[in-house]
Amino acid sequence: MKTILSLFILFSINLYSNYSAMAQDDIRSKKLKEQHVVPKVVKLAEEWKKELSPMQCEVTRNKGTERPFTGQYFDFYEKGNYHCANCGALLFSSESKFKSGCGWPSFNDVVNLKSINIVTDKSLGMVRTEITCANCEAHLGHVFEDGPPPSGLRYCINSVSLKFVPKQEQTGKP
Ligand SMILES: [Zn+2]
Repeated sequence: MKTILSLFILFSINLYSNYSAMAQDDIRSKKLKEQHVVPKVVKLAEEWKKELSPMQCEVTRNKGTERPFTGQYFDFYEKGNYHCANCGALLFSSESKFKSGCGWPSFNDVVNLKSINIVTDKSLGMVRTEITCANCEAHLGHVFEDGPPPSGLRYCINSVSLKFVPKQEQTGKP
């Protein structure tokens, strides 16, 4: 009886550890798996050029990168939400923003995984994971697997790709 009990305990422990390893892998792969949603907002390059600042256009439409430690939000920690600077779609919350020291606004998670496209970027001789807005295809930045828990991810986003909306404006309260 004792042997059966020990076997059962061993089996349960093994099952549990396999399950948690699987759950972890699942979280990771879900976040980093390529995904591409057909954008709802489609405009010509000339139209975007008229609507956006030259820097916004360079980063969001031509996949440029703003210089580190220069953007509006890299050292900014007010409560609220970050929307796409091109189409206004909700992307990140201040709750997932953290101080990464990399010089760009860094987030641990997106508000909704469906709001972004995840694309393998092989430019500049590197393999990186590019993030774009799923609603309008604006280039936002890249995601790296060196962020803090629980996701272990660091969404490294250009400030000019974002528009911050403070919390009181969203609720309509002062
Ligand atoms: Zn957008």
